[in-house]
Parts: sequence; C-alpha cells; structure tokens
Amino acid sequence: MNSKQNDGSRWICCPVCGSKTRTKVYEDTVLVRFPLYCQKCKREMRVDVVQFKMVKSN
Ligand SMILES: [Zn+2]
Repeated sequence: MNSKQNDGSRWICCPVCGSKTRTKVYEDTVLVRFPLYCQKCKREMRVDVVQFKMVKSN
C-alpha cells in the first residue's frame, strides 16, 4: 500500500494480485475481517487492516 493520497488516505491493494482496489483507508482506520472486493480477481476476500498494514484474514 504505497499509493498515498493528498488527504492522507491510501487505496488498499489486493493481497492476491496486488492491484489497487476501490477501498481506501486512513492511518487511523481499523478494519477487521473486512470483505475486500478486487475488481481484477473478481472476488471478495476478508482482510484485516491496521495502520496501513494488511493481513489476510481467514
Ligand atoms: Zn486481486
């Protein structure tokens, strides 16, 4: 996740293919078991995100 926006947010990248998703997070955003959808993989995967660090959730 290196695509920093002007407002301090970043787009979450897909943990499988690495492409940018349409979900953005801020530094203080905490996602737990978030259903992240990837346009490229055309599927949803659950992820945890804390301070821009993403972990694939099971
Ligand atoms: Zn993907």
